[in-house]
Amino acid sequence: MAKETGYTVWAEPLKDFCTRVFEKMGVPLDDAEATSDVLVLANLRGIDSHGVARLKRYVDGLRDGVMLARPKIEVVHETPTTALMDGGSGLGQPVGVRGMQLAIEKAQKMGVGFVAVRNSNHYGIAGYYSLMALEHDMIGISTTNAAVLVVPTFGRDAVLGTNPLSVAVPAGGERPFVLDMATSVVTRGKLEVYERMEKPVPLSWATDEHGVPTSDASRVLQNLLACAGGGILPLGGAREEDGGHKGYGLAFLVDILCGVLPLAGYANTIYPKTPEGKPLPANVGHFFGAMRVDAFRPVDEFKATMDDMIRRLKNSAKAEGQDRIYIHGEKEFEVEDQRRENGIPLHPKTVTMMKQIAQELGVEYDL
Ligand code: NDP
Repeated sequence: MAKETGYTVWAEPLKDFCTRVFEKMGVPLDDAEATSDVLVLANLRGIDSHGVARLKRYVDGLRDGVMLARPKIEVVHETPTTALMDGGSGLGQPVGVRGMQLAIEKAQKMGVGFVAVRNSNHYGIAGYYSLMALEHDMIGISTTNAAVLVVPTFGRDAVLGTNPLSVAVPAGGERPFVLDMATSVVTRGKLEVYERMEKPVPLSWATDEHGVPTSDASRVLQNLLACAGGGILPLGGAREEDGGHKGYGLAFLVDILCGVLPLAGYANTIYPKTPEGKPLPANVGHFFGAMRVDAFRPVDEFKATMDDMIRRLKNSAKAEGQDRIYIHGEKEFEVEDQRRENGIPLHPKTVTMMKQIAQELGVEYDL
């Protein structure tokens, strides 16, 4: 039930609502629940750009037939430590969860497990899957390729995605390390926020149709939509002096693991279209890894060293004007605690969109 603050909702009913929507679109209950869980965890952790605000995109994809509600998900090839899975053009989340589970099962038996997935779709936040490894005292790795938005160093056209990468590592008394980041300076959502505020973006974020750094978010977004050139810059920005080529290397690496290795789409082949510009089923790829800590050394000892490492960083001297050093994932864990306690604030536009979907599909909206 909606709380007094208006658009603040609890995680469980939000998840149930999304599950009903996916079921109505023909998605089996288990897959619908898995997808909703990924979306709502993004909201719980404060990554609202990748939470239920995306519900419409998935509903549209299922409705247009570019994503299948009941895909044939299968293991195409496997060894004791590796597997290649085919997502059958379904939602990215269910095959993502199964891929990571398989990597974890292999690591339980063999110490490590790696799974590459092809024929999938947008899987949400990369961190959902790496986090799954923590309860097994494993290090989790999760990465995916994505729609082209990013220009290579010295390039003019976007031929790479924002290709996020997440690694989660257990600790003892301290919170785990959970790196979960796009390999671009920013995601498209950040540019959209600046566009709405009519605020110039830093020159290290994006380039125009000539491949020249620009502060005009609106121009970049329009160019991306029209495939007119330019795009978001890799981590580090446009210049070698600032290390842009290293971010480009990371984005490329993600595409090798997710695109080239499983033979999914890669570079600008992930979201194909007909000659008339109609979208065809995507071929997004993912890559998951799990490493059992005790395959290297005793878990308790490892966690104690992680705690020491974290404390050394956090207790080190602060820069002028700063009073805290963060560990990756720390802010998100804090938001998660707070949102589990007080509910998830939803943007009014997201609420309107969800109500519209509920009405169109004849699904009860009870938030
Ligand atoms: P952010 O830039 O917000 O954060 C990147 C990482 O840095 C996080 O682990 C974050 O953890 C950490 N961090 C932030 N501030 C600090 C700090 N001061 N000190 C230490 N660590 C810090 O993420 P992005 O915008 O790059 O990505 C947002 C999300 O979008 C991710 O979940 C990603 O997986 C998802 N994504 C998904 C795509 C897809 O196609 N499926 C494509 C691109 C992105 P914390 O916030 O807890 O500090």
